[in-house]
Amino acid sequence: MRYAMCIDMQHCVACAACAMACKAAHGTPPGIWWTKVLVREAGVFPNTRRVNLPMQCMHCNNPPCCTVCPTGASYRSEQGYVVVEYDKCMGCKYCLLACPYDVRYFVEDIKPYYGDKGFSPYEEMMYKKHQKGVVEKCKFCSDDRLKEGLEPACVQTCPAYCRHFGDLDDPNSEVARLIRTEKYVPMMPECGTEPSIFYRGLLPLDQLKSHAD
Ligand code: SF4
Ligand code: SF4
Repeated sequence: MRYAMCIDMQHCVACAACAMACKAAHGTPPGIWWTKVLVREAGVFPNTRRVNLPMQCMHCNNPPCCTVCPTGASYRSEQGYVVVEYDKCMGCKYCLLACPYDVRYFVEDIKPYYGDKGFSPYEEMMYKKHQKGVVEKCKFCSDDRLKEGLEPACVQTCPAYCRHFGDLDDPNSEVARLIRTEKYVPMMPECGTEPSIFYRGLLPLDQLKSHAD
């Protein structure tokens, strides 16, 4: 089994419902986005267009973040997703440097979203799942929603049906079919990481500009 996701960038409207669904499902602290949507511009004025690029851990088949992890906290499961065992993570951040996609976060502190109002009851409940001084990232909802037979929160929530999730090793799964029949490609294949996220409409990253550039 190898869980994988297909993301159709041509349908993404950058509503960020996926990012908010992920926050709601996992209660990630401020500043931590297990999935996010980058808005970029391609082309040269006046022939430019907006590009919406959902980003998250690529759950690589050959993950450098796991190779460099000195404690074995980051590892690839038999089902193909990559996870971090917080109790084994010593916060050295080697994995942050090794990941070419910039999708890992070090939890410096856990603060309330609304400052002086303190922690809300929701935050008090959800922050029990997080630890200071460790690295976090997307885990394909493997320890909660997948166990309940549900799709990852981002997949279920996307109003544009951009996201598709399933077992790449099953030739009859939707992801296997999409990758076979349409133009879904991994990001930065030259890195040799063999991502499990595949995009339709992906442009080479050096052709995308941020408004901050
Ligand atoms: Fe794009 Fe879907 Fe995420 Fe909205 S929810 S930003 S359409 S991937
Ligand atoms: Fe590791 Fe980065 Fe690949 Fe995720 S995208 S498995 S964090 S190398």
